[in-house]
Amino acid sequence: MYKDVEVEIVLDREKSRRIKEIRPTKDEYFMLIAKLVSLRATCPRLRVGAVAVKDGYILATGYNGAPRGMEHCIDAGCLMVGGHCHRAVHAEQNVIAMAARKGISLEGATLYVTHFPCDTCFKLLINAGIREIVYEEMYPNKATEILLKEAREKGIVKIRQFRLSKDRVKAFLEELFSEDVV
Ligand SMILES: [Zn+2]
Ligand SMILES: [Zn+2]
Repeated sequence: MYKDVEVEIVLDREKSRRIKEIRPTKDEYFMLIAKLVSLRATCPRLRVGAVAVKDGYILATGYNGAPRGMEHCIDAGCLMVGGHCHRAVHAEQNVIAMAARKGISLEGATLYVTHFPCDTCFKLLINAGIREIVYEEMYPNKATEILLKEAREKGIVKIRQFRLSKDRVKAFLEELFSEDVV
């Protein structure tokens, strides 16, 4: 049926060059998604977003907010104990909860997260099988620092910081809303 159809390779060098320039790197791609996810957070004290990734696939996402069906901080107010809000489920905990509900293993996955995890989340992530944490902002917590030091020394989890460049994000948004995107 295709016997007489001509085949040609079309490479638009100019367009391809432009696409390569604007195409997010994997770090940019996943951190940007984590940031978008954080927009859904409902605790006014801090909005955190997280994405678990393995082999280039997104396994689960999470942001901090009230347990399913329960009242959010932005409606009912933060439930403060010792300077911390106890109403919201942390973003990282929600990633683990989503994976549990959907029967997805996080073994060997990388977590992209907008803020470095608290000590509870850090411990949970290790036991959920997360092997690398890529964070944008350091969120100071003495207990995490101590646990982090040990986990690093023992090679239990890899940690690195990745900051999105505002100029790059602006360029992505411009590209998304530009007229010639089809
Ligand atoms: Zn809150
Ligand atoms: Zn936490």
